[in-house]
Amino acid sequence: MYLYNSLSHKKELFTPNSPDVVKMYTCGPTVYHFAHIGNLRTYIMEDVLEKSLRYLGYNVKRVMNITDVGHLASDADTGEDKMLKGAKRENKSVMEIAQYYTDAFFADCDKLNIKKPDIIQPATGCIAEFIQIVEGLIDKGFAYFAGGNVYFDTSKLEKYYVFNDHDEEDLAIGVREGVEEDTNKRNKNDFVLWFTKSKFEDQALKWESPWGVGYPGWHIECSGISMKYLGEDLDIHCGGIDNAFPHHTNEIAQSESYLGHKWCNYWFHVHHLNTDTGKMSKSKGEFLTVSLLQEKGYDPMAYRFFCLQSHYRRNLVFSWENLDNAALAYEKLVGKIANLKEEGNVDETALAALKDRFISALNGDLNTSLAVTALYDVLKAKTTDATKLAALESFDQVLSLNLLQAAKAVRQKSEEEEAASADPEIDALVAARTEAKKAKNFQEADRIRDELKAMGIEIIDTPQGAKWRRV
Ligand code: AMP
Ligand code: ZN
Repeated sequence: MYLYNSLSHKKELFTPNSPDVVKMYTCGPTVYHFAHIGNLRTYIMEDVLEKSLRYLGYNVKRVMNITDVGHLASDADTGEDKMLKGAKRENKSVMEIAQYYTDAFFADCDKLNIKKPDIIQPATGCIAEFIQIVEGLIDKGFAYFAGGNVYFDTSKLEKYYVFNDHDEEDLAIGVREGVEEDTNKRNKNDFVLWFTKSKFEDQALKWESPWGVGYPGWHIECSGISMKYLGEDLDIHCGGIDNAFPHHTNEIAQSESYLGHKWCNYWFHVHHLNTDTGKMSKSKGEFLTVSLLQEKGYDPMAYRFFCLQSHYRRNLVFSWENLDNAALAYEKLVGKIANLKEEGNVDETALAALKDRFISALNGDLNTSLAVTALYDVLKAKTTDATKLAALESFDQVLSLNLLQAAKAVRQKSEEEEAASADPEIDALVAARTEAKKAKNFQEADRIRDELKAMGIEIIDTPQGAKWRRV
């Protein structure tokens, strides 16, 4: 599989460290609010990546953190803890908020057929592991204590900006959001590993540490949780593109300084879902959730289909019109599948050819729009319906669009509708007309047709015989 690696800025042949297992880490949600559909775009594409790797024969071990402490209002370590903000907003405790929004997140994932990672770890459950890494970084001279907090010293690194050539502009993000600069930092890019002092003294969750009672920084969570479950070498790390800097940049800085060697080989970043006014974000106030789409009558699968139609490395623009188009295309696709009959044998050669096309779409940097095109290729293929159904079922292991289940539901619905509209009296009249026509008694046949017309029934002559419908 060729994947674009944000670290090398190139598509590379994906080769895990060990052939036995792909070690995959995903930055999880900050559980202070509902996930918006932009966040969920990232999780959908990561889900497709995991399922593609499994489809291609890899065994995958996937870990995700739940950020329930330490993620401050600005990614540059300033402002209030987002969890505390959420708790105040809803007049609840931080742990109540964390539980509520963790459950809501996985309920949304369920609706979108996003598989749960093998391991899900809330950050508050790994404080000892974080402290151990921070101690190691201090011992090795990569971290310092200032003004009550422990900071990572970015000047000790040969190269800090590993993804891009960022400049000081990047750190101005925090300033733009109206947050003061932290004067304890020796270098502008230094970041907090452990807080004991903050302007927000009402921080709810605190733990003992060698530097006083406090709480971990956001970045250390992902390094600590990943190392705890996946060891010192990671194959692939995923997240939204906004996480590349500073979050992932800082994860690499601290992990590699602590371990003394390269940590993660591939970085997979999903680009943003934007609205016509810019990136969808919670700080802007208004944002869309899966529940809201459902309230408006959309099937969550239509949103998943919408995401799969575009490449993960392109920004995707959300509009109701775009979603409507995707919903309609999904409905039509399912309708076509519903017309397939479970007939004939599976033609293994034809099936292999169809699968080849699908696999080459995945292998080409997870080209999901081509993978969706492969679904239409199946429907157009000159082969048995049984082969087509086998191919669609197979592809849906990765795309997870509920294709066969939705098609079955369509068939059931039309059968039910047919049964509900059945009427023996009309059937008898239609049969009598057919007999009259056979006997060349066209006057009688026309009379019956007019009688039915007066009852609001239209006769449709088809090669399979006369059918009727109410008009
Ligand atoms: P958060 O819960 O804020 O930590 O974000 C969860 C995930 O969603 C992270 O991987 C972010 O990079 C990603 N993300 C945030 N905003 C967007 C967006 N508008 N489109 C796609 N992904 C996003
Ligand atoms: Zn992370």
